[in-house]
Amino acid sequence: MKILVVEDETSLAQQLRAALTEAGYAVDSAVEGERADFLAQTEQYDLVVLDLGLPKIDGLTLLRKWREAGLVTPVLILTARGSWHEKVQGIDSGADDYVSKPFRMEEVLARLRALLRRAGGQLTPELRAGKVTLDPRQARVTLDGALVRLTSHEFRVLSYLMHQRGRVVSQMELIEHIYAQDFDRDSNTIEVFIARLRRKLGNSFIETVRGLGYRIE
Ligand code: CA
Repeated sequence: MKILVVEDETSLAQQLRAALTEAGYAVDSAVEGERADFLAQTEQYDLVVLDLGLPKIDGLTLLRKWREAGLVTPVLILTARGSWHEKVQGIDSGADDYVSKPFRMEEVLARLRALLRRAGGQLTPELRAGKVTLDPRQARVTLDGALVRLTSHEFRVLSYLMHQRGRVVSQMELIEHIYAQDFDRDSNTIEVFIARLRRKLGNSFIETVRGLGYRIE
């Protein structure tokens, strides 16, 4: 899953980036509105964390623009402390949830997991398919209850497929959702990740749909 963090306070942006990467997400960041707008319109994000007070173009303007353009990506806004009107305006402009500053990183992560879950039509905090369970709270994967060790990219591939369970996902789509924007992308590596995941989780766990992509049932 790939997340865009839009925050102009450098230290906070770095903390968010570090925490999200640690939690198993691919992360891009922007420190001002124009860059955020460019990234949101050119990259495929699963979620955007958007600070409302930004230089150049403010967060509310961006959000309204994105929604008018038909962008359906879930947006979690960061609002100033005690500013109830900012929350109301944010939600009325198309935000899906908010966190007030200052916040605990755990709260941002929990709200973000809930939004990703809902976007994928999942009800439970753990994602399950057959004998495999993926817990986004700890970035943990188990097979038949036993912990399975995955590299960060293997985890991202599995997490995306599990969030899209039942749907065929193309290689191109996987690439869009597991790599940050500045990462060298190579479609051959997807095949390598899938092969490694099959070795660890069972050969039939990820189905290949000829000419279309991959699917977890
Ligand atoms: Ca700000």
